[in-house]
Amino acid sequence: MKNYYDILGVKKGANEDEIKSAFRKLAHKYHPDKKGGDETKFKEVSEAYSVLSDKKKRAEYDTYGKTFAGGSPHGQGFGGFDFSNFQGFQGNFQEFDLGDIFGEFFGGGGFSAGQRRGRDISIDIELAFRESIFGTERNVLIAKVGMCDTCGGSGAKKGTKMTACTGCNGKGEMRETRNSLFGSFTTTRQCPKCHGRGQVPESPCETCRGEGVARRQEEIQIVVPAGVSDGEMIRMPGRGEAAAGGSAGDLYVKLHVKKDSDFTRDGNNLTISLPIKLSDALLGGEYHVRTLDGDETIDVPAGVTHGEVVRIRGKGVPHGRNTRGDLMVRIDIQFPKKLSAKARELIEKLRGEGL
Ligand SMILES: [Zn+2]
Ligand SMILES: [Zn+2]
Repeated sequence: MKNYYDILGVKKGANEDEIKSAFRKLAHKYHPDKKGGDETKFKEVSEAYSVLSDKKKRAEYDTYGKTFAGGSPHGQGFGGFDFSNFQGFQGNFQEFDLGDIFGEFFGGGGFSAGQRRGRDISIDIELAFRESIFGTERNVLIAKVGMCDTCGGSGAKKGTKMTACTGCNGKGEMRETRNSLFGSFTTTRQCPKCHGRGQVPESPCETCRGEGVARRQEEIQIVVPAGVSDGEMIRMPGRGEAAAGGSAGDLYVKLHVKKDSDFTRDGNNLTISLPIKLSDALLGGEYHVRTLDGDETIDVPAGVTHGEVVRIRGKGVPHGRNTRGDLMVRIDIQFPKKLSAKARELIEKLRGEGL
């Protein structure tokens, strides 16, 4: 597990200013546009800062060692630090003076290093308890920016050619040197006219106006594996929105598992309550137990106590390869509220026996 405090090189009790200043120093040092920069480190530092600079996330991290921010990790700003979502990133850092660091790096919100990338999308799906245990499949219809079907993404009208882009002389990118507080940087910018392709359609596709991408409905099949928990996220790389001349974003599927009236889950084990008669508790008896795989018969041993657990192996939550947790059957002895005259008489006799 990552230690965000170590990454930023601050003490656990560091205040907001110390965290901010450590981040600025390191962001500057590792920025990928800089000579000697390190994109991996930069992302790591940015991720650490995104958590420790947010009171709520920091408290979660301190308590649980992770954060539970809802929605897409990208939508929240970080998680995977996505350069193309720079607008979203800015949104989370209003208290942080972007003008002095990022404004220069990114040319005021423009996107410099690397390729354009489509937006990440996040959706929520609700699962029945049983589906969360055994896994399931869902087909969902998502309205998103996808590759244009008419032109297959080329942006060209059918039967027409592509020509070299005049904006970048067919190179697809432009170099820019900027002076900043931290020295001068040469950044490579994707050509905005051709979106980095170096070519533009001679006659643009009518559906997408030559962009190669268009907003449309897409049916996506989501395979939910067995044993998922409430709140878990499935990431589907490349199934987010398409970007003209770039790679597609990711799709994040957040799972919401409905509660079951009988079963509760504890790790890989399931628990169910089994009401039994008082006489069976004393003498033992056979009971049918509802499992997720059908009914099972169990022997309740004589002298069982209230709350005792009888374990049925392998009827719990699937995990790993061919392994499953257990079903824990909690004995619930039904003590009679009222006694018939006859029962009363018999129990009086039991009392006479010293029971
Ligand atoms: Zn098109
Ligand atoms: Zn161009």
